[in-house]
Amino acid sequence: MLDLHADLADLTAALIDIPSVSGEEAALADAIEEALRAQAPHLAIARDGNSLIARTELGLPSRVVLAGHIDTVPIADNLPSTVEGERLYGCGATDMKSGVAIQLHLAVTLTDPRADLTFFFYECEEVEAARNGLARIAVNSPEQLAADFAILLEPTNGVVEGGCQGTMRAEVTVRGVRAHSARAWLGENAIHEAHEILTALAEYEAERVIVDGLEYREGLQAVAIKGGVAGNVIPDELVVAVNYRFAPSKSEADAERFLRRFFDGYALTIVDRAPGALPGLNVPIAQDFIAAVGEPPAPKFGWTDVARFSALGIPAVNYGPGNPALAHTEDENVDISLIYEGASTLLKWLS
Ligand SMILES: [Zn+2]
Repeated sequence: MLDLHADLADLTAALIDIPSVSGEEAALADAIEEALRAQAPHLAIARDGNSLIARTELGLPSRVVLAGHIDTVPIADNLPSTVEGERLYGCGATDMKSGVAIQLHLAVTLTDPRADLTFFFYECEEVEAARNGLARIAVNSPEQLAADFAILLEPTNGVVEGGCQGTMRAEVTVRGVRAHSARAWLGENAIHEAHEILTALAEYEAERVIVDGLEYREGLQAVAIKGGVAGNVIPDELVVAVNYRFAPSKSEADAERFLRRFFDGYALTIVDRAPGALPGLNVPIAQDFIAAVGEPPAPKFGWTDVARFSALGIPAVNYGPGNPALAHTEDENVDISLIYEGASTLLKWLS
């Protein structure tokens, strides 16, 4: 059985050594459930699929959620875990089994917290939203997640990261007229139009937007291009796929309006979208937490599940020991001292 009182590096290693690629989290969810039931009898535990919710029910005036996903990206020949010097290596070390280890450590240690606590462990964060355990429970039983503040222990190098940018993917289509390349004058080459779109993108200077004191850097980038029919045909279609990352002060409708204006004159199809999340740093409980961490907060550029808490009206931040730059890499590892540091900061703040 997992020993939740073990040293945090050992507990992280034990979690890494139970593989849990998205969709295959049952073994790890079983191990966490078994350990919590045996070692944290003060928590009310509920299971939904391969997601687990463990709550204190002390009737305290406020409640804090500590959340983490238990799945990882596919294993890249980086199991079992190994330790080299101050670093622990293995799939999920940074994203985010070191964060899950802190959750479990706090779950057994904080028997007399200053706020009621909800420990939430969920499945399928690394894959499409339709399978995400947090998204499912937010719809089916939002009361299980209700709280005044949420901390996601996603990798942030031990600083508080507020909010996250929104993302929108779109396809810009140029139409031409197909013809035999021997009689090119009868056609209209759609690929030749690419330069206008690409020049506009290359010359566009993305905005920097200040929200709650944090500077978000937006991005508008071509991420794919396709066109061409055959070696002797003037192509009649060109599609440029673009990805727009937008500041959390803008809505999805704002983002779409911006894209339609930017690509005025072209056919534009939105293929995927997710709203950003406001940093939520202006509420007193968040300010108090930032003061406890003692370092200035930073903006989050990537999309994370803090947006799902925001959508439930719960201010949420990311704060975890992993290094986001190492997430999803073959060389994934975590600085062991940051695991201890994160756990002790949270323990002190929640005691
Ligand atoms: Zn993650």
